[in-house]
Parts: sequence; C-alpha cells; structure tokens
Amino acid sequence: MIRIIAIATLLFFNGHLLKSQSDPPKLVVGIVIDQMRFDHLYKYQERFSNGGFKRIMREGFNYKNTQFNYVPTVTAAGHASIYTGTTPSTHGIIGNSWYQRSTKQAITNIGDMNELIVGTTAVNSYGASPRNLLTTTITDQLRMGTNFRAKVISVSLKDRGAILPGGHAANAAYWHDWKSSPGYFISSSYYMDELPNWVTKFNKLEKSDSYLTDSWSTLYPIESYTLSAPDDNNYERALGGKTSPTFPYDFKSMRERYREVGSEFQLIWVTPAGNSLLTDFAIEAIKNEGLGTDDITDFINISYTVTDIIGHTFGPQSVEFEDVILRLDRNIESLLKSLDATVGTGNYLLFLTSDHGSVPVASYLADNKLPAGLVNIQKYEAALLSHLNSKYGTNEWIENFDGESVYLNRDLIKQKKLSLRVVQQEAADFLITLEDVTGALTASNLQSKSYGYGMNKMLQNGYHSKRSGDVILVFKPGYVQNLDPRITMQKVKGTTHGSGYAYDTHVPMLWFGKSIPKGKSVRKVSVIDIAPSIAQKLNIAYPSGSTGEPLIELFE
Ligand SMILES: [Zn+2]
Repeated sequence: MIRIIAIATLLFFNGHLLKSQSDPPKLVVGIVIDQMRFDHLYKYQERFSNGGFKRIMREGFNYKNTQFNYVPTVTAAGHASIYTGTTPSTHGIIGNSWYQRSTKQAITNIGDMNELIVGTTAVNSYGASPRNLLTTTITDQLRMGTNFRAKVISVSLKDRGAILPGGHAANAAYWHDWKSSPGYFISSSYYMDELPNWVTKFNKLEKSDSYLTDSWSTLYPIESYTLSAPDDNNYERALGGKTSPTFPYDFKSMRERYREVGSEFQLIWVTPAGNSLLTDFAIEAIKNEGLGTDDITDFINISYTVTDIIGHTFGPQSVEFEDVILRLDRNIESLLKSLDATVGTGNYLLFLTSDHGSVPVASYLADNKLPAGLVNIQKYEAALLSHLNSKYGTNEWIENFDGESVYLNRDLIKQKKLSLRVVQQEAADFLITLEDVTGALTASNLQSKSYGYGMNKMLQNGYHSKRSGDVILVFKPGYVQNLDPRITMQKVKGTTHGSGYAYDTHVPMLWFGKSIPKGKSVRKVSVIDIAPSIAQKLNIAYPSGSTGEPLIELFE
C-alpha cells in the first residue's frame, strides 16, 4: 500500500514536472543595452526605481561574472554572439565592418546591396540584411522549431542591433532612420515590401520630432550627481550646437545645427529620448503583432542604443551617462509594466545583457595616474611596411591595416614565391617589438594551434579564417587606437571599446520571469551561454554553431 502511494506520488510529481516543462513562456524578451558594463547596475542603483533594473535583480537571477570570451568586443559581434550562442570564429561577424579581400574594400556587417531600405524618405538608400551571419540564431531556431508559427520581431535604433538578433528568419527587424526626416522606424526589403500599417501609423505620430521639442535636463538636481565627474570637463565632446559638454541640452537650438549637417534626427541618438522612443515602439510592436497572446512562444529583441552613443561622446564618468542610465531604468520599468498587462506577469521570460563594455576615457585615466595610452596606428603601419621593404624589397606588402588586424598583400607574396606563413611570422615578430604591442598572433598559428585560455584564446574565438587578417594585435590595457596622429592624450574625449580587457568584457546578465529562479552567481559565464539556455527552456534545437553551455542555475 505504501509502495502504491509512493508510485502515485511519483507519477503525480512527474506529471507536474512534465507540465511545467511543456508550459513554455508566451514570450521571450531579449534586452541588449549597448555599452553597459556590469558595474553600472550597481554604481547608480540607489536612484533606480523599484520596478526597473532593481525589480529584475530582486525577483530574477543575476550572473555577476558574465564575460565576453573573444576579441573584438564591438556591437555587431556582441549582438551576433548573444543570439547565436557562439563566437565570431564561428558566426563570422568579426567586427562592425571588416576588410574583404575579394573586393579589396571594407564591408559593413549588415550591408547588403541586393536589398533596399523600406519605409525611408531618403532616395538611393542602401540595403541591409543578416546574410553575413554564418550560423542560425536562437530566434531562427524558434521559428523553425514551431514550423514558423512563432513570431520574431527585433527592434533597435541601430540597424545591426535589430538585424543580427532577429537572425535570418525574423518576421521583421526595425531600426531608426536618423539619416532622413522625420526619423521614422524603417526596415529592409529582406523582410517585407512595405511597412505594416501599425508601423506606418506609429511613424505618422512623428515622435522623433515631438521628443525633440523640449530639452534634456538631469532627472535629479545636477549637484546630486556626485558619482560622476563635474558636468564641464575635458573628457567629453561638446555636441553640435553646443560650446561645452554641459546641461541643459536645448533641442531647439541644437536641431538647427544638426539640420545644417543633414542629420537632424541623429540628435535623438544622443539623448535619453531615444530610449523612450524605442520603448514606445517596442510596446506597440508587442501589442500590434500580438506577441505572447497564444500558446506558441514568440520572441522580441529590444536593443537600446543611446547608452553607447552617450558613452562614445561623453565617457562613462559623465553626468550624461549617469542620467541616461537612470532614465533607461524608468524605460525598463514601463516596459515591464506593459508586458505584465499585455502578456501577463510571470508569462514571459526575459534576459538583459550588453554587447560590450567600455574603457574609461584615456585622458581621464592619465590625469588620474591610471594606466592609459594612445596607439598611433599610422606610425605602426609605416614601421611595419619599412621593415617588410627592407626584408623582401620595396613593395606594397600591406593591403590593409585597420588597427588590430593586418591584412598582408597575399597576391604579392604569392607572386614573389614567398611563404605566407613565413611573412606573417616576420610581420608578427616585428610588430611585437613595438612599444605598446603586447600580443601579435599570426593567422597560420590561429588556424593550426588551439589556445587554451587567456587573451590568445579570446583572439582565436574572434578570428575567422575567411574574414580576418594575417596578424592580429593586442595592445596594453587602457590603450586605445588613435587613427588621427594630431590627437594627443590631452585631447582625447569620449570612450571606446573593442579589447579583451575586463572593462570591455564584463557585462550584466540578468534573467527574469517565467521559470526563472531567484538568485545570483559569481560563476564565470559567457554571453554565448544565453542562446543554449533559452533553447533548453523552450525545448528547441540549439543555433547551428552554438558553442555555449546552458546556465545550470536557471534549471535548478
Ligand atoms: Zn555596442
């Protein structure tokens, strides 16, 4: 009798387990915050609302040691890696742009001349698609796994922030048309011939315009921004129409200056209003596309761009950056409220992460006696050419030198009957002797060896045999590339990113909602673990190139 009860309990328990596993979320919400570092979640936390970042951290799971595991840490590679569950070595997005040997030109990650932009008021607009992405994404797998009944929508101000997360099979990706008036959300002929009615209706509201009618002042009294440098300092760029990098930002006068240079609506990319605009659009997308309203799991990616532009312009020490994070927290709060109302509290599964971090502004580091420096790329290129000329005879040995990647003239090397492997090593051995270069790996070694850990492994994860250069360089921590030799350390303004150092690799990763336990972990995990975790949550196949591992804590 006891045994029968035990079996019945077990069956019931198993039945319950099975039910919870076959009860997937109605909607997966992926949030990517461009250029947000791990520490930003904590630094400004005291003034976060209760319903934004803090709610996600309080009720969900927080991976406090989430690292990018490849170089270069840039936007396109980041978005691709998050959604493919693998690194540039496999998904092929090795940068925002890269040198293409076959055409001897740089190509952009989502550029596609076979497609047209849909919904823009501009003429001769170049096209965009995910065709350079070599693997499937978790969003592709959801589409295939449901016989294309699941809906996938991806939105951002940036084209790459929308297109890459949507994968190849998204129903739609939308981004913001800053190049033409009045700042519509647009798409590509890759997805559609014309915008759906709800997008056209949203565009006709001309919110880019109305968000730019007033000004940007700080959310709290400016003297209370004690976590940031004084508002006026030498580390920040002054925006167009301004003589100093200081509040308030009066849109009326600034718009005139932006209009003169043909980018009036780009102004919204450097103000928190850009995040509000995207939040409005994402909420409309969820409602109008009916996302999360039936038993088939849908997916929306929302990539917030403004943090990145503010970082590049002012740096992470700025009042501007602090204020944009505080205001984004309010945007997240209203997004969650809307999801609770439309999809239902507990019915959606959400993750939040970033595509890369950022280095403190070089001049700010130097002024505060911290390690920093500028790498003069032109000088390095000239030095390498001179060395190769002396070794192999004067010729055009370098096809492209884009900073950390050197593309040698392979046709010339072949013509001179030299060994590519030997010339690569010669170049690497020379470059490593230059001041500030701490690593120089050759393509031959990256292809034939297996690096186990550290920076070499990260370079290997970022190296693609068909797209990367012949020698890949690493510079000292805190050193940033300087393409303009007239810029001295004192003149450096704004930040950048792209390295394999902690300031660029350590990002937030929060999980929240359906079937997510409360908790936190300092176990080292990577953004490439996100896609296989979602695949396990949804019981669908992994993206084709997936090399990440499911995050076990989310299944305990
Ligand atoms: Zn980015």
